Amino acid sequence: MSKTIVIGAGFGGLALAIRLQAAGIPTLLLESRDKPGGRAYVYEDEGFVFDAGPTVITDPSAIEELFELAGKNIADYVELLPVTPFYRLCWESGEVFDYDNDQPNLERQIEHFNPKDVEGYHRFLDYSKAVFDEGYVKLGTVPFLSFRDMLRAAPQLAKLQAWKSVYTKVSQYIEDEHLRQAFSFHSLLVGGNPFATSSIYTLIHALERKWGVWFPRGGTGALVKGMARLFEDLGGEIQVNAKVQRIEMEGNRARGVTLHDGREIPARAVASNADVVHTYEKLLGHHPVGEKRARKLKGKRMSNSLFVLYFGLDHNHTQLAHHTVCFGPRYRELIDEIFNSDGLAEDFSLYLHAPCVTDPSLAPDGCGSYYVLAPVPHLGTAALDWEVEGPKLRERIFDYLEKHYMPGLRDQLVTHRTFTPFDFRDTLGAHLGSAFSVEPILTQSAWFRPHNLDSQIDNLYLVGAGTHPGAGIPGVIGSAKATAGLMVERLTSKKKSA
Ligand SMILES: Cc1cc2nc3c(=O)[nH]c(=O)nc-3n(C[C@H](O)[C@H](O)[C@H](O)COP(=O)(O)OP(=O)(O)OC[C@H]3O[C@@H](n4cnc5c(N)ncnc54)[C@H](O)[C@@H]3O)c2cc1C
Repeated sequence: MSKTIVIGAGFGGLALAIRLQAAGIPTLLLESRDKPGGRAYVYEDEGFVFDAGPTVITDPSAIEELFELAGKNIADYVELLPVTPFYRLCWESGEVFDYDNDQPNLERQIEHFNPKDVEGYHRFLDYSKAVFDEGYVKLGTVPFLSFRDMLRAAPQLAKLQAWKSVYTKVSQYIEDEHLRQAFSFHSLLVGGNPFATSSIYTLIHALERKWGVWFPRGGTGALVKGMARLFEDLGGEIQVNAKVQRIEMEGNRARGVTLHDGREIPARAVASNADVVHTYEKLLGHHPVGEKRARKLKGKRMSNSLFVLYFGLDHNHTQLAHHTVCFGPRYRELIDEIFNSDGLAEDFSLYLHAPCVTDPSLAPDGCGSYYVLAPVPHLGTAALDWEVEGPKLRERIFDYLEKHYMPGLRDQLVTHRTFTPFDFRDTLGAHLGSAFSVEPILTQSAWFRPHNLDSQIDNLYLVGAGTHPGAGIPGVIGSAKATAGLMVERLTSKKKSA
């Protein structure tokens, strides 16, 4: 019998493939690049290892669950190391906030900014926990296939005032502007503008407080490798350098795929982890359903893009924390420009990754691997020529880091490379070069997001950042659970009745 095909080996595709294979559904995972990972690809230059994307690993229980359902022990595949502080937040004024899981330490720091905010923080944490229970535990892994599903969730969402933005909600509890930034920036990690994204995304705070922040020994790439090995140990098959060009149809059913090299592979069912617009426009644009969906999807707001600069130094900056958020001079105005303006702002806020703080093996002895990212507009918001803008922004960021965070950086530089909105578009097939797919605003969430199962093609499924619940590793692993639930039920009952 034909296998079930998963297109794309990002975290979403890998997690789905593991779940299918573990349920006894023979699965073939097709990845266009030369190794799995997607946004979590790994570059290796001159002895430096650079995780390309996700570095903040939260909700390890969702990852562990994949190994458990396969009857395996995660410790045999990958080791997760705790990261403390979770993040160091720094402002140009010299203020620093080490955000971690130690309540007295958190309160002491909050008190330093504004004593009144300690009590406000308690109320914010309670709110964040309530949203977490509702939005993550109850709804994070269920597919929203009908509007009835949405209506069922509506009373709770209304009670939690989900129509308010993350920043508005945080400001309801917290007065100090630094602290408002400290507790609202999280939605940016999944492509959400804190001033427009639903306050549901404050759940990230409760999620981090509950399970902590982790980093795999050997980098995020080691987790990708562990998941790929788990899938293969279960009997699953991965083909890399296997770019899907078309999903082949027979009426309203997918019957297989054609690869770029012309090979045709039949399939019992197809699940796409590729970008949702890419899936419907490029892979299925030849079919009326694909054409219709692509047109509709292109009307949606996409998340921002990122400019990512990876660099290796012959010096290990031990003064840094593993994760640093470097707030620039503006917050609201800068975010507004990133999401809505047709140019590149003159200032920036940065996320700086220094993984050797946790795992020195990611660079040669005495050296340090780093990456720094700046959120930037996607190509539909600002049609910039990144061949021109990229090198200029790189130099501005190096100057800034050397001045504020990493003295001597330029003299210590051994290697560097960048990933721009053009690369998100051309290497990952991301619509408009978006880094996080469909923007997570309330009107594009849950049922309003592209569904985990196509409503007209009954053996075509979606998994990953563009479908419910959305971007981020916990999000896409949750989407795999939602999609696998549908697939396992439908494919195994058909198998039984066949
Ligand atoms: C720089 C950066 C930093 C981030 N940091 C964090 C973080 O710290 N923590 C966190 O939780 N999240 C983070 N995120 C978000 C998170 O990485 C993503 O939301 C998540 O990894 C997306 O996974 P995915 O499964 O949806 O798809 P992707 O990772 O995009 O994978 C899709 C795969 O499909 C493949 N593909 C596409 N088209 C085809 C085709 N036609 N044929 C075959 N294969 C195809 C692609 O090559 C790719 O491998 C970050 C994202 C970025 C970009």
